[in-house]
Amino acid sequence: MYIGIDLGGTNIAAGLVSEDGKILHKGSVPTDSGRPSREIVQDMARLAKTLVSEYGADMSEVKSVGIGCPGTIDFNTGEVVYSNNIKMEHFPLAEVFREYLDLPTAVDNDANCAAMGEYVANGGGANSFLLITLGTGVGSGLVLGGRLYRGFNGAAVEAGHITLVSGGEPCTCGKSGCWESYASVTALIRDTKRAMEKNPQSLMHKIAAEEGKVSGRTAFMKPITTAAAAFWET
Ligand SMILES: [Zn+2]
Repeated sequence: MYIGIDLGGTNIAAGLVSEDGKILHKGSVPTDSGRPSREIVQDMARLAKTLVSEYGADMSEVKSVGIGCPGTIDFNTGEVVYSNNIKMEHFPLAEVFREYLDLPTAVDNDANCAAMGEYVANGGGANSFLLITLGTGVGSGLVLGGRLYRGFNGAAVEAGHITLVSGGEPCTCGKSGCWESYASVTALIRDTKRAMEKNPQSLMHKIAAEEGKVSGRTAFMKPITTAAAAFWET
């Protein structure tokens, strides 16, 4: 068996995976990304151990661990060079993880992991493709001829930071007008808030109040109160 961990800006998700790629058991805990990196890693290892014991297996049956993390990753050393979402910089993630769970551990960019996951799950049927992940940002992983293309310093592709609009919306990368600054959930929330400001009568105000915040779903949801729902139906 293997353990796969997705370290996200909001949640840490983990799965116990069989030799043939089946997810045997999975779970998640909040990342709480403002706290010290070591605490996050400790929770990752704790979650991995919990999954193994809940499944009724023994840690000796687990061969290795793979971690997907947003940002620039040095695949050879397992170091997070820079991650804006997790707030890690030059952090030896694989090394620290092994302090809590002593198993061979590899770390790669989360979109790269998603691309390899698709490649393997697909039985290698499509061996050259670009995978796009839409979330807090816009991530991308490129598989060429059945191999992951990492490029110079592991910073290959990064399609989310291709400039779409010269002098456009500011991006978390420091540039402006990136694809990510238009197509991510972050951009959707920004545009929703702007539309709400321009339209004080919009039902989105009601929906946001019911949900307690403006989210990526606000613009697409129906209000749950009867009066508002009746208005929506008309
Ligand atoms: Zn950018």
